[in-house]
Formats: sequence, C-alpha cells, structure tokens
Amino acid sequence: MAVDKNRTLAARLRFAWRALVGQVPGESVPAASAAPVSPPVSARAETFDALIGAMPSPAVLLDREARVLSFNAAASAVAPSLRKGDPALLSFRTPELVDAIRRASKKREPQRVEFFERVPVDRWFEAFVTPLQLPAAAQRQADLLLMTFNDLTPLHRVEQMRADFIANASHELRTPLAALVGFIDTLQGPAKSDAAAREKFLAIMQQQATRMARLIDDLLSLSRIELNAHLQPNTPVELQSIVRQVVDGLMPLARDREVAVNVNMPPEPLIVLGERDELIRGFENLVENALKYGASGKRVDVTLVRANTRTGAGEAYLSVRDFGPGIAREHLPRLTERFYRVDVADSRSQGGTGLGLALVKHVLARHGGRLSIESTLGQGASFTMQLPLHTGSAPAEQGTSASSMT
Ligand code: ADP
Repeated sequence: MAVDKNRTLAARLRFAWRALVGQVPGESVPAASAAPVSPPVSARAETFDALIGAMPSPAVLLDREARVLSFNAAASAVAPSLRKGDPALLSFRTPELVDAIRRASKKREPQRVEFFERVPVDRWFEAFVTPLQLPAAAQRQADLLLMTFNDLTPLHRVEQMRADFIANASHELRTPLAALVGFIDTLQGPAKSDAAAREKFLAIMQQQATRMARLIDDLLSLSRIELNAHLQPNTPVELQSIVRQVVDGLMPLARDREVAVNVNMPPEPLIVLGERDELIRGFENLVENALKYGASGKRVDVTLVRANTRTGAGEAYLSVRDFGPGIAREHLPRLTERFYRVDVADSRSQGGTGLGLALVKHVLARHGGRLSIESTLGQGASFTMQLPLHTGSAPAEQGTSASSMT
C-alpha cells in the first residue's frame, strides 16, 4: 500500500518537474528527439497555478511577452481585472510598476518598486519583479517573470499617525507658549507700570501655563500606558472606592457648574485586577467631561453595576451619563482619537487637551476592558467603562456603599 502511494507521489513529482523544466533528472531523453521534452501546455499551466496558488502573498506569473500566465486570489485583491492571457499592463497601470516589469524583462535582474493606489481605497504596496532562472532544458520558459506584492498600507498608516501626532502635539503646545511670550513682551513694554493690566495678564499667563502642564502630563500618561500596554495589571482594585474618590474630588467643579451628581453602586464589592491610579485617571476624565460639556443638563448620573458574562467572573459596567447637549452621531467613532474634539474652541476654553478619551481607551485596553459611547444630539451622552471582574479577595482597606451625592 505504502509502496503504491510512494509510486504515485513519485509519478506526480516527475510530472510536475517535467511540466516545469521539461526533463526529470536521471530520466533519459528519447533518442529521436533532439529538443527538450515539453509537457502539454495545460499540464504546465496547472503546475504554475498550483505553485502560485500556494504562495501566501499576492503573486502573478508572466510569460516573456508580459502576459499573465497565472495569479493567485491574493493578487486579484491587488488588481481585480487580472485575467490569464491578458497583457499584465492592462491590469497594472501604475507607471512605476510598468517600468519595473520592462526593466526586469530587459535586464533580467530583479526589480523592487513601491507604488500607491487610490482606487478603490488608498493603498501602498511594494512589488518585486523577479526574472525566473529556469534550467536550460526548459528554454521555452526561461524568461518568465514572477511578480510578488507586499501591502505596506498598515505601515504607512502608523507612520502617518506618528507624524500627525507630533504635528498636533507641537501645535497644541505652541499656542499657549505664543500667548505666554506675547504677555511677557507686553508686561516688559507697554504695560510695564499698569498694575491692573499686570494682574489681568498674569492670570491669563497662569491659565496658559496650566494648560501646557496639563498637556504634557496627559502626553506622558499616554506614553506610559502605551509602554505598559502588554503588561496585564494584577493588583485587586475595588471599583466602589475609585468612584467615591473621583466623585469627591470633583465635587468643587460640580458645585461650580451647578450640577447634581447622583451615584448608584451595588452593596457587594466589585473587584477588578488593575492599576488603581490609571483607573482613577480614566474615570475622572469621564466625570470631568460630563461636568464640563454636559453642565447645561444640571445632572450627572454615575452608575456601577455587575453584568454576567457567559464565561468568567462577569463584568463591571461603570457609566457616566449627562443630560447636556449630547454629541452628533458622526463624531462618536472618532472621539477616542488623540486631539479629536467636537468643538476645539469649547474644549480649549474648558482647559481640555483632546487627549482625555484617548487615555480612557488605552487604560481600558490595558485592563482587558472597553469603552462604549452612546449619545443623541440634544439628549446628553453616556460613557461606559466595561471591565472584566476578578473573583479573588477584596483589597483589605476598602469598604463599600451605595450613595447619592449632589
Ligand atoms: P478634551 O480634553 O477636549 O475634553 P477628550 O478626549 O476628553 O478631550 O474629549 C474629546 C471631545 O469629546 C471633547 O473635546 C468634547 O468635544 C467631546 N466630549 C467629551 N465628553 C463629552 C460629553 N459628555 N458631552 C459632550 N461632548 C463631549
């Protein structure tokens, strides 16, 4: 049985080899034929299809006239109009790629090019056009060209994000810095002996300096969280104590904005494995945003509940709901992008940096959780932190309670 199998396999291999190069090593060439044995065209095509089809990245095989001999499914995604027998230049019209095919065909040297496609969406590729060096016995296929592609789009996106981030951060810092320099000039010059102007300008300068400090603080927090993104926190943290600490800390702001904060929490402790400071920072951002942007609703509800999951210990849902102006639907998917703001002037006047929700998202990702945002324009907004619960023991020093604060 095994011998039969081996024979079949050997026959298949001989067939494939013959199809590719025309002659199997050790096999005698028929005396009558001076030319190398050429397999039937269909057998050759099947072999090419099998080899090209097995390649994981997009691959296209061309003959000496740069006509398409074979291509795989991944290549169709790069060039949907590919068809066997058609000139490759019908499907690949990018000038860089056309040149590379011509050069590889003429010089018989491998070529590498990068190119950009706009349709149907922006994509970047690198392509290798490699002349195939088949053994001499296969004279007829000696000048094939193999094209392979790598999709560079994700790399380009990351690079673009990095560049945008640096540009945004510099811009955000430059604005308050320019204001500070301007006021220093004024205080040294025209307003030198104007005590009232000095008081007024110093107050603005302090505001701008605070904004810069906050921005740098947020940037550092973000980069620290990102650096530790791969480390799962493993300290048990009780969520009720975090809610109390944050709400207590923001009561002066709530009073200042005349907003009533209602807190609802279950009596049993809800514990997550986490980094206490990061969770506080994330939750604080949500409550502060509700108090700043949703102040006109005069009410903010903070709710902590336990939700069952099919597997595991369940989840904690910690939500902050305000009754302010809400957020238009088109902004929702972008709110957690760095520096994205619905109204830049409004955010700045409130001391915002545009990094708060990006920070919340990163904190939650590190804790195996996620952020969901719901809002209807004119009816307020609700931000919910979902966190996987831990079943182990509660941290010693923390108690629990249900409360309502105004
Ligand atoms: P910022 O520092 O500007 O507050 P965030 O990342 O925390 O940055 O928030 C991004 C933007 O989302 C804010 O500038 C604001 O436009 C909008 N936003 C956040 N929370 C609310 C809310 N509760 N109601 C309305 N808009 C909000």
